[in-house]
Amino acid sequence: MNIIFIAPPAAGKGTQSALLEGNEGYIHLSTGDLLRAEIKKGTEFGTEINNIISKGELVSDEIITKLLKNELERIKDQKFILDGYPRNLNQAETLNQIFAELGIDNYQAIYLTIDEETAMKRALGRVVCSNCGATYNKYFQEMMPKQEGICDKCHGNLTARADDNEETFKTRFKTYLDVTNPLLDYYKEKGKLEVVDTAKGPENTYACIEEILRSKDVDN
Ligand code: AMP
Repeated sequence: MNIIFIAPPAAGKGTQSALLEGNEGYIHLSTGDLLRAEIKKGTEFGTEINNIISKGELVSDEIITKLLKNELERIKDQKFILDGYPRNLNQAETLNQIFAELGIDNYQAIYLTIDEETAMKRALGRVVCSNCGATYNKYFQEMMPKQEGICDKCHGNLTARADDNEETFKTRFKTYLDVTNPLLDYYKEKGKLEVVDTAKGPENTYACIEEILRSKDVDN
């Protein structure tokens, strides 16, 4: 069962994906990570992407779909999580076409809910390992690294994402409400939507996701 996460920024898509990757062998496909990798290369294309991301706006459907399709073609025979795609209705339609072309029909959309105030706190406290990409949070006990600024897993340096500042976060949240939220009805109408409340923290969220996956396996 492949998974599509739909959620506002900082709801925990990355954290839950990492848990599923480690425990269940999922491949984690994050369009945000693909874009950040392009930025890191320091190319003109990367600079163009950086200008958009740092404003909290969405990268064009054309750019992101091309990046995603290349990756999906590579990993299509393994079970995967889409984290950050689709982000609007046009991308959802495109994804349907890509799935049809690649013969992928087994997926579940999971909506991770969070209120804006908590999401903002999570975003402002988020730090990411510059070496392995593991995510921590300075403001939430259960997400703190053992040693401040150092990754528990690989001892890399923890840094904040450039777009996790208050102003950019507000734009990202508004963009989510305006263009991503309509996807909930889209997947609900297809009978493909499950909802998980993330208010009780990452462990509880993960247990709920596991429960959904188990119930879908039984259904199949
Ligand atoms: P994320 O890591 O998912 O929070 O994404 C970080 C930023 O990357 C977003 O604020 C967008 O600017 C860009 N981005 C990620 N995924 C997409 C997408 N599917 N479509 C357009 N822009 C995206």
